[in-house]
Formats: sequence, C-alpha cells, structure tokens
Amino acid sequence: MTTRMRRFVETDTGHRVPNHKSKCRHMHGHRYRFEAEIEGDTVQTSGVSEEGMLMDFSDVSSILMEYVHDVIDHAFVVYEGDELAREACERMGPDHRTVVVPFIPTAENLAKWAFEQVEPHITSTYGNALKLVAMHVRETPKSIASWIP
Ligand SMILES: [Zn+2]
Repeated sequence: MTTRMRRFVETDTGHRVPNHKSKCRHMHGHRYRFEAEIEGDTVQTSGVSEEGMLMDFSDVSSILMEYVHDVIDHAFVVYEGDELAREACERMGPDHRTVVVPFIPTAENLAKWAFEQVEPHITSTYGNALKLVAMHVRETPKSIASWIP
C-alpha cells in the first residue's frame, strides 16, 4: 500500500525541435504543465501541520515554482546544438530570456530535466519515505510525456 500525490505548475515557454519533419521545427511556444508525482507514507506525527499528508501541496508548489517555473517561464529553451535558434536568441540581446540546454527540448526531455531539477528538494522531514516517482509534462491538451526513472 502506498499513497501518491500530484501537484503542477504551468509555464509559458518557447522552444523548437530543430530536426522535426513538420511544424515543430519552427520557433513557437506552449502553455506547459509540469506535474510532480510523489509517493510515500502519510505523516503520523501528532499535531504537526502535515499530519495525514505526504507533504504540504503548497511546499511542492514552491519547489516547482523555484526550480522549474522561475527558470523557464516566458523564456525560450534552446538546444545547445541548435546554432540557428541560438543565434536568433542572441540577436535579441542580453535581456532576452534564453535557456540553453544540452538536449532537444521535446516534452519527453523536458520531463527528465524537470525531474532532475525537483528531485533533490523532495525531502522527508518526518521520515515518511517521500520519493519523487514521476514528472509529467503536458505540452498540449492532447500530448503528455512522463519521466519515470
Ligand atoms: Zn512545440
């Protein structure tokens, strides 16, 4: 038996998939949803704020905000090997929000990236074996990718 919880944040983020056979090679953006899925035991410590919870939803939200949302919201995520798009972002000047990553920014790769951003911050304050088990990324209402290590 186990308990799981999920919480998401949303970002408005630009990207492109440089080798894509169709329209995804154009510079464009999505309203992304990054949803962390956490597993563990509910807190049994009597009288604490988290009694009966895995973790406070607002604490999960704060982690997602700091390490995912605040990094890529209203930014353009560009693959380091995508020279054309990097050049275009550089032409926008130093104030342009560009995030260079070592992978093609597909939903699948962004899910793995976001997992790695969040995972070190999911800690079991009450020894209740909390574990980030998945990161789900919704790129469009019909398209969702998950990273489950
Ligand atoms: Zn896209």
